[in-house]
Amino acid sequence: MNQTKYVYDLNEGDASLKPLLGGKGANLAEMNRIGVPVPDAFTVTTQACVDTMNNNSEWPEGLREQVEAGLARLEERTGKTLGSVENPLLVSIRSGAVFSMPGMMDTILNLGISDETVGQVAKLADGNERFAWDCYRRFVQMYGEVVEGIEPHVFEDALTEAKEAKGVDNDTDLDAEDLKALTQKFKDLANEALGGHWTTDPKEQLMRAINAVFKSWLNPRAEVYRKSQGISRNLGTAVNVQQMVFGNRGETSATGVCFSRNPSTGEKELYGEFLTNAQGEDVVAGIRTPRDLAEMEAELPEAFHELLATMDKLELHNKDMQDMEFTIEDRKLYMLQTRNGKRTAAAAVKTAVDMVSEGLITKEEALLRINPSDLDALLHDAIDPHETATAIVKGLPASPGAAVGTLSFTADDAAERGKAGEKVILVRYETTPDDIHGVMVAQGVLTAHGGMTSHAAVVARGMGITCVAGAPGIKIDPKAETVTIGGQEYGKGDTLTLNGSTGEVFSGALALVPPKLDENFQQVGEWADAVRRLGVRANAENFEDASKARELGAEGIGLARTEHMFMAADRLPAVRKMILAENEEQRAAALAEILPMQQADFEGIFTAMKGLPVTVRLLDPPLHEFLPNIVDQSVLVKELELTGASEDVLAKERETLAQVKRLHEQNPMLGTRGCRLAMLYPSIPDMQARAIVKAALAVQEREGETVGVEIMIPLVAIAKELEVQRDIVVKAVEEELAAAGKSLDYTVGTMIEIPRAALTANEIAEHADFFSFGTNDLTQTGIGISRDDAEAGFLGHYVEDEVIAKNPFESLDQEGVGQLVQIGVEKGRSTKAELKTGVCGEHGGDPDSIEFFHKVGLNYVSCSPFRVPIARLAAARATLQHG
Ligand code: PEP
Ligand code: MG
Repeated sequence: MNQTKYVYDLNEGDASLKPLLGGKGANLAEMNRIGVPVPDAFTVTTQACVDTMNNNSEWPEGLREQVEAGLARLEERTGKTLGSVENPLLVSIRSGAVFSMPGMMDTILNLGISDETVGQVAKLADGNERFAWDCYRRFVQMYGEVVEGIEPHVFEDALTEAKEAKGVDNDTDLDAEDLKALTQKFKDLANEALGGHWTTDPKEQLMRAINAVFKSWLNPRAEVYRKSQGISRNLGTAVNVQQMVFGNRGETSATGVCFSRNPSTGEKELYGEFLTNAQGEDVVAGIRTPRDLAEMEAELPEAFHELLATMDKLELHNKDMQDMEFTIEDRKLYMLQTRNGKRTAAAAVKTAVDMVSEGLITKEEALLRINPSDLDALLHDAIDPHETATAIVKGLPASPGAAVGTLSFTADDAAERGKAGEKVILVRYETTPDDIHGVMVAQGVLTAHGGMTSHAAVVARGMGITCVAGAPGIKIDPKAETVTIGGQEYGKGDTLTLNGSTGEVFSGALALVPPKLDENFQQVGEWADAVRRLGVRANAENFEDASKARELGAEGIGLARTEHMFMAADRLPAVRKMILAENEEQRAAALAEILPMQQADFEGIFTAMKGLPVTVRLLDPPLHEFLPNIVDQSVLVKELELTGASEDVLAKERETLAQVKRLHEQNPMLGTRGCRLAMLYPSIPDMQARAIVKAALAVQEREGETVGVEIMIPLVAIAKELEVQRDIVVKAVEEELAAAGKSLDYTVGTMIEIPRAALTANEIAEHADFFSFGTNDLTQTGIGISRDDAEAGFLGHYVEDEVIAKNPFESLDQEGVGQLVQIGVEKGRSTKAELKTGVCGEHGGDPDSIEFFHKVGLNYVSCSPFRVPIARLAAARATLQHG
């Protein structure tokens, strides 16, 4: 029987085997293949992890034997043997998922060191005893924690005791004898914790370490990270077993992390950090604050220049910005990892544009390199340049943007308050991957330790969350929940402002300003426009929002909600009069008051859009939004009665209460909404149609631009409703035009936002020039969940428990509600082949939903102004991916 191949030697792999070897394993093999110095290794495949997961955590048949054989071949190639007293092989065991998950899983270094081999390790390192014992105590600590699950504090307390006994502050102040004693202490503690079952056989340790990495795929922090990044749990992780090279062999050894371009700005410049006499974990874990890579040139010039050349080679080979880990052992450079670097949205845009001009990639590849949702970060706030406050401390600018929030000192607290909608700044000594759930919902993260490549920085940058890392001299008291900065104490209720682009921290809340979009951003937008088939419009109902939308590339307004115009404080009285009117005369009087205000609003939008099409939706109010709340009004009347208010006042408020009671609906969202109100009171759509025409004619005259008006009837369920409403609108428009002696380019269409409308779209299309899918209501009515109530209630649990993959109000439920859209398009076009179709629900700005709308053949999407750039890029990518 042919057995599954679970183990690949370094020279058997290449980049194409990423699904099997994981990102790290495939890239190591690829680096080796193109002649970059890499320590020898073998990789246990993701399939081995998956098969173990599916086999009640038992290794599948043949895996152990394959690992043993892989080890034997590695021993032969390196001339070293695991556990050998003369020439011991030491290895690292590292996770390597298909999609990079920085710091989420476990690593074990220095495996192979033992009582028997430690002496020889020292001898082979030119007699460096301190180095050998440092390796050994680190191994016991890592192996104990990761593989045997011993609490970290067991070792940390012993380390602290050793330093205290010697009266020193730093690990580096412990000498060989101290470390030897400490290693013995660690082993005793581990043995004690395990009831005498500490494993000493290195081969057995190796097997158990590989198994521990498999298990770490399912640890809580990895689960949280995967969920946030949409990575499937079924992928599993590969495990890389690699010969150790040592950055901690003395001052001619070093370890570090570097990027081929600046991952914050995208600038092609030297960017990285290093530490001499250190092992890799010291840099990424943020425990010692590392040094700027530029300083390495003076100390290790040859390795430094080789590193620069290697960075270029790897970037050119992978045609993307690289994030690399390296180790220098006694002046000799080794690359331990390369991967496409996580970057800020600004850097993603800049590198994509630069790489096109450098001839490295095509425009189409550039568009596919930029994640549309990431553009959101570019559209984020910065501190108002007029602010003159001085910073209370300056740390490292780890993730750009600006954030204002009240302080939170634990990830759990930040997660809880952040989810409740509070703006919080998470303050930590250093953040670890366990803090991910707090980082995700915070406005910003402030740490006392750690560098630009610490986990906190990498994760925050990836998520577009502002981060200032390594703020010097700040003192955090996690118990008291306070931080002292420059002698001043700040507690939980206090507010700070972070500038993640400069590293500055300010006391209090500074004013923030919206971002400026540079020429690279414009360039990407232009490339996207040249490719995409879907039109992109914006939802806006005033001059400012419409102007912003146009500036961001909107090709029209897809939804102007007229009821929003009615909610302004100065208009509400007239609107209430209209709704509460007892006869047509009263209603006509109220409408006459409203008409000029509506006209002014429409003129604003038409002016801003300079001739681009504008879809004006007629009134769609859940009635209760305009009326006093029934409970409040009852209480008011009761109070007035008790306090003996005048009869006049009392009568008026009682009358209002009676009217509110008369119009009260149990389910206003399913009540007299949309065209239903207009069916009851035709004078409302009549007034609105007239206001639209008057505004359009006024703007045409003033600006000399033609105005493309699309009048949209909301919440139609039955074809007859549209037929009636269309007649009212067309009659009013034609009368106004005839009276003015002018003509106007206008169409009348409807929203499809009720399942019945989608299912009978062929009948509805008889009376429509266009359809716009209102996927907010279509989701509400299609799945039967209240928009107003569900998000605060059970829906959160559904998403958390994976009953549904995503919140269907954010990303379209493609299998269910998506079918209604598809049916609506098909049935509508069966009546009118050229029927224009669009979407104006929130989903119009969601990249996954946009891909779906492209596939079902809509003509355009419409979204909030700040999402327009995202939609343009997402639409272009949909075209590139689906044609
Ligand atoms: C919709 O239902 O998708 C829509 C755009 O209308 P509204 O959100 O105003 O109900
Ligand atoms: Mg709606």
